Amino acid sequence: MAPESSFKLTYATMFNPPEELHQRFDEALARLKANFGKEYGMIIDGKDVFAQEKIENRFPADTDVVIGVFQKGSAEDAKSALAAARKAFPGWSHTPWQKRIELLRKAASLMDERIYDIGAAMAMEVGKNRMEALGDVAETIALFRYACQRMEETNGFEAEMGADPLVGFVSTNKSVLRPYGVWLVISPFNFPAALSGGPAASALAAGNTVVLKPASDTPMTSRLLAECLRDAGVPAGVVNYVTGPGSSVGQTLIDSPEVDGVTFTGSYDVGMKIYRDFGTSRWVRPTILELGGKNPVIVSRHADLETAATGIVRSAFGLQGQKCSAASRIYIEAPLYDKLVARIVEMTEALKIGDPTDRANMLGPVVNKSSYKDYQNFVSELKESGKILTGGKVLTDGAYSKGYFCAPTVAELPLNHRLWKHEMFVPITTVAKVNSLDEAMKLANDVEYGLTSGFYGSDEEADWFFDKIEAGVNYSNRAQGATTGAWPGFQPFGGWKGSGSSGKNAGGLHYLQLYMHEQIYTRVRKA
Ligand code: NAP
Ligand code: MG
Repeated sequence: MAPESSFKLTYATMFNPPEELHQRFDEALARLKANFGKEYGMIIDGKDVFAQEKIENRFPADTDVVIGVFQKGSAEDAKSALAAARKAFPGWSHTPWQKRIELLRKAASLMDERIYDIGAAMAMEVGKNRMEALGDVAETIALFRYACQRMEETNGFEAEMGADPLVGFVSTNKSVLRPYGVWLVISPFNFPAALSGGPAASALAAGNTVVLKPASDTPMTSRLLAECLRDAGVPAGVVNYVTGPGSSVGQTLIDSPEVDGVTFTGSYDVGMKIYRDFGTSRWVRPTILELGGKNPVIVSRHADLETAATGIVRSAFGLQGQKCSAASRIYIEAPLYDKLVARIVEMTEALKIGDPTDRANMLGPVVNKSSYKDYQNFVSELKESGKILTGGKVLTDGAYSKGYFCAPTVAELPLNHRLWKHEMFVPITTVAKVNSLDEAMKLANDVEYGLTSGFYGSDEEADWFFDKIEAGVNYSNRAQGATTGAWPGFQPFGGWKGSGSSGKNAGGLHYLQLYMHEQIYTRVRKA
């Protein structure tokens, strides 16, 4: 095991890593390869649990490679995970918060020690490049530490309230926030550490117990996080890790009255179904939904062309366009349009695609066959109704032949086309010429989503932009990413409208409270 990393990695600082990072990543990759095909259980009540049926976790860059074998859990497994979490709740919720955060910080330190191993597993199961994979683990660690810090800063959310003026009596009033009970976390494939670990960290710091179900494409990253929690000494049953299809295991969890609150991060369609199904219970339970995006970038005629092009290309194609925050709609004022689009195309064509674990490559494959087909269908639609400026084909020669490789694609499309409002979640972005910033803003806000956005232009224009845009996380003049690269404590992350349900962003001041309900204690004695 390696000692804690000696530099601070964030998505915005990852572009120039020290050599040590590459060397450590390569060593971890070799360890992973030596264990290819190994079987991993679920973790229920502290024990490894195996199912009849298995899920093979394959490498999307070479589908002959089986990274590991995971469990296709059943409805029964889902129920026993909930029962274990229920049993552990009294003990964990009555563990003083100071002790809880001590254990969570210990788990975060273990994640830091194991960052290269977790990152290597993630790079392979998602098809994420090494820097993005390490960034995802580092973000998870930051989310753990941030949740702990917020417990401390708020004294565990205990507060004395005012004393009501009772004649002849003295009253003291206290407000506390207390955990709900069993918290369900369902996470997507694209940030399998931060979107499993982040919600779990908040739920646990608050005193809830957790059942975690990761995406079926990416079971390994969450397993490694669950191991860190177990090895840190978090008691059995406090964190339970179950794997298996969303439609069976996931749905059983959602339909269970044993769940007291849920954090779901994933697509709009699945999220809205969960919202409706979860709402059929006898009372309203907290439902934190972090859903899709269709993130616009507006470029003013006053923008710096090189900054805009760099930020747009990074955000459109980082993780092959499979970020909820990906830049997918680019509205450019007419005077800059031709030059900027030419530069975006040039930069896109220079992107290196291949094995995501290879340090030379910026882009890997898309995550699975279904995304690979989606890409091809969207490309046909773009060819029919618009104009492809670069990309527009899958890559199948030589080393690409065994994976789901798609050329990053920039296309022009009539502004009334349906794909301007549809989250594609593959490496495709669309560009359009606009005659004014007002026109661009009208288009930018005319979608059901409201997750992130980007702007390039003058400072005064940026003030206007921040005031008008309907989205949770917004950037101006950022070369490191037009719409991507939020970091806990710096850019708390969450969406408006169809992109999120709580109105409070993860990694921010108001998030941890979502995992607790308020209770008031009034004591009265004679004066
Ligand atoms: P997804 O298909 O919606 O799946 C997300 C999770 O839900 C997976 O664990 C999935 O399990 C599970 N699931 C599916 N059907 C279910 C059901 N009926 N009941 C309970 N659980 C169910 O999303 P994805 O393809 O993994 O991720 C991409 C999506 O996530 C995009 O839309 C992206 O924008 C969004 N996202 C949002 C954020 C944010 O912070 N707002 C961040 C990242 C990603 P299986 O894998 O077994 O199907
Ligand atoms: Mg999926």
